[in-house]
Amino acid sequence: MRTPVLRVVLTRTAPALAALTLIGGLPAPARAEQAGGGATPATDEYVLLPDRVFDGYTMREGHGVAVRGAVITAVGPAATLPAARRHVLAGATLLPGFIDLHGHVAVQGVPPATVLRHGTTTVRDLTGPARPLGGGDGSLRQLAAGPILTAPQGYPLPVWGGGGGHGHGDAAALAVEVTDVAQAREVVNHLVDAGASVVKIALEPGGSPGAPWSKHAARVPSPWPLLAPDVLKAIVRGAHDRGRKVSAHLSNATGARLALDAGVDEWAHMPCEALPEDMLARAVTAGVRIVGTLDTQSQCSGVLANTREFVARGGTLLYGTDMAHTELPWGINARELELMLHASHGKLNAEAVLSAATGKAGEHLGMAPLGRLVPGAPADLVAVRGNPLHAFKRLEYPELVISGGRFVVDDLLRGSGKGQAMHPAAGSPH
Ligand SMILES: [Zn+2]
Repeated sequence: MRTPVLRVVLTRTAPALAALTLIGGLPAPARAEQAGGGATPATDEYVLLPDRVFDGYTMREGHGVAVRGAVITAVGPAATLPAARRHVLAGATLLPGFIDLHGHVAVQGVPPATVLRHGTTTVRDLTGPARPLGGGDGSLRQLAAGPILTAPQGYPLPVWGGGGGHGHGDAAALAVEVTDVAQAREVVNHLVDAGASVVKIALEPGGSPGAPWSKHAARVPSPWPLLAPDVLKAIVRGAHDRGRKVSAHLSNATGARLALDAGVDEWAHMPCEALPEDMLARAVTAGVRIVGTLDTQSQCSGVLANTREFVARGGTLLYGTDMAHTELPWGINARELELMLHASHGKLNAEAVLSAATGKAGEHLGMAPLGRLVPGAPADLVAVRGNPLHAFKRLEYPELVISGGRFVVDDLLRGSGKGQAMHPAAGSPH
């Protein structure tokens, strides 16, 4: 395969080298960060008995979960679960580990172990170094899009491009300028070969007051160039041919129309500016899924109205925070969940909101039953005291976190005096 002639844009930091490597045709190194928790044997078997279990769609009172190795083997009332070592989590709720569908963890240098300890067990980075799926074995499970594909001199270059400025937050942004149809297909193939699980594009002409990227002084005044429709369609076709979805950064009707015309699968943000109702209706009909990032865009004029209209029409709103933006927590974001609940005006209840970050998110990734607590699902779990349906905030401070069957946070077990989580083979009286 010949090396494509591309302008690879940015950065001064290590992720740029990864991107450069990628564009040169060699896969970027897969760096499976090891968070803590590797001490627990993955072949161990145990049963967790909280007051209730959220299975990724439904809250089930009086249920427990059995885990063997890295996998959930049974979910149900205590009497139906295997006779393995039992940990009673009195007063607690057990849930699937959260899936954040919009992050920039790697490019911003957020410690994966910190994210994991705060209940997010899977992150999909949209922009950053391309690399294959990794983690999930006592470490943060990470998926990546790789560099964002954009028009020549398109977003994010007018804001963050050209040697030195602030990054997506404060580090580096990564982008590839795509000029024509042939190059579009080639770039997509390179990204997928490097392990990209989704293809991220920019359809951002600028000018959305309140959006995080609008708070930085642009080097080039808007409107910024957008991908030509034929190039955009070639990217989408190329991604679909390789079994990948396309996720678009967009913030207004101009970007949304381009995305709808090209068959883009996902919008990486709820648009910042209010969209015409017929355009949101078109998105719902086309099966477009929208990753909220409502919290980081809370100063946008149209985000809440767009959310209400999209959800009211039956659109699928998914959980994603844009993690690494400076005002956001490194882990579960309760404020994002609250905004999803309130912006939907009663259309989504608290269970549906949690589902958008667990069961529905895993399904959206094509990785179901990831994000669920059902037999056969990866043993990624979090527990909090009380019932999070009544207080999302508790989720930001989980007292139990398990990744791939391995205990990463075990405060709840130690607090209850039931067993020793880090060394469960030592046994508990149950
Ligand atoms: Zn982002």
